[in-house]
Amino acid sequence: MKEKKIKMVVRALSVKEPWASLIYSGEKTIETRKWKTDYRGSILICVSRNPKNPLSGLAICDVTLIDCRPMTEDDEQFAKCEIYDGAYSWVLKDIKKIIPFPIKGKLGLFKLDDHYFQQIRWYPTIHRDFCEKCKGLLKITWIEKNIYRTTCGDCDYKCDFDLNL
Ligand SMILES: [Zn+2]
Repeated sequence: MKEKKIKMVVRALSVKEPWASLIYSGEKTIETRKWKTDYRGSILICVSRNPKNPLSGLAICDVTLIDCRPMTEDDEQFAKCEIYDGAYSWVLKDIKKIIPFPIKGKLGLFKLDDHYFQQIRWYPTIHRDFCEKCKGLLKITWIEKNIYRTTCGDCDYKCDFDLNL
């Protein structure tokens, strides 16, 4: 596997569902808050705790915060929510999926403890590959813990794998 140079993840943010999953899937590129930050750079997105949600309490992806400004109506489609009083748009770029791991969230944009930083493993691009049956492009989705599933976009091929094995 080729060594990839990665940017340091230094901050983390707890996000409620369904917003966290929408950031993860790339559909939501603006997060909104009632407060602004001067910080720019890498942010680890964590799913807020909720007993009903299987992703609860997990860090799921890394994004780059490139801008933070008052929200406008044009932002609604990217934020997946309506504009509200005092809203700031946090403009996110370069979503990088990670292998989810449990994390204890804090309020605000919190500094990542070193032992969490050590746990960050980037989503395995090595498996984003071609189908062995039809050479179609495979898609990879996370199932649970270390279990991932690859499915072919063009035929019925699918395969689950455990990253720990
Ligand atoms: Zn196929």
